[in-house]
Amino acid sequence: MKFLSGILLLLACVAAQADPRQEDIAAYRALVQQDLRLATIGYRLASANAPFCARRERNPGWVIHDEQQYPERDTARAAFGFRRPVAISSVVPGSPADRLGIQAGDGLVALDGNIFDAQSRAPDRQSAARAEKIQQDLRQALARGRAIRLTLETANGQREFAVDPPSICASHFWVDAKSKLDAGADGEGVRVTEGLMIFARDDAELAAAVAHELAHNLLGHRERLKAQGGTRAVLATEIEADRLSVWLMANAGFDPKVALRFAERYGRKTGLGIFSAGTHLRWKNRVSVMQAEIEAMAVTPRRSGLLPPPLLSGADWPLLAKN
Ligand SMILES: [Zn+2]
Repeated sequence: MKFLSGILLLLACVAAQADPRQEDIAAYRALVQQDLRLATIGYRLASANAPFCARRERNPGWVIHDEQQYPERDTARAAFGFRRPVAISSVVPGSPADRLGIQAGDGLVALDGNIFDAQSRAPDRQSAARAEKIQQDLRQALARGRAIRLTLETANGQREFAVDPPSICASHFWVDAKSKLDAGADGEGVRVTEGLMIFARDDAELAAAVAHELAHNLLGHRERLKAQGGTRAVLATEIEADRLSVWLMANAGFDPKVALRFAERYGRKTGLGIFSAGTHLRWKNRVSVMQAEIEAMAVTPRRSGLLPPPLLSGADWPLLAKN
């Protein structure tokens, strides 16, 4: 009997490899769906506020992934239909990539005629290093300011796309697979936990969290805190991020008042203020700081339809029309 159950176990393993379970496939797809949700909100904030950003980059609005970054490669293949080991994971609706007809599942073949070496060198451990290297090559090529020729393996065979997207605020957005309600900014990217994404009732609430973190990056807070740390400096950067966040939201077409509601819900849930040792405002104070900014916005003249945030007024705005 022992022997038999051993065989059954072996068969179960083989079956699992050959035919990934539907629930695992659904879980993988749900994760990528969250990625796209965050990328879409991030793209909207970063493109609408582009004229006010000192650091910009040309971003086509796609998310790239590698079958190697998933623990179960067969499940990843079944879920996403990788046409190449590194492929388009999702495309932000309305982005330049979307308008070109690039689709999730399209595999990355070549850049300006040079074949990506993703096909030849596969890391043996779970890793996103290969996809990151390709991302970096794409960013560098786009930074030269002309159209790039991107060859993709599509549902209709290999196709070449001329990708020539406009500049938006330089930032990337990624989902951190943790249940804790948390988000962060490291100077270049914005991280949001899966827990916070689920806690956010709608996209406008999520945009409030993302705008706050993006504001930290646009204001160079990480560098400032490296130069002068301490409780008071942290508190000052938190207030600035709250102040700027509502301007970023308004320019991207999100109702900035949602940030007030979200700050209250988040504050009540996490109890921030009691345990934060003076580095963060209590939610009631956050709400009044942001309320004052919303009142200031109401009497600020628009330029090219946008509200220039006073906290970013040091930057020159060459992308903004004079009137
Ligand atoms: Zn903050």
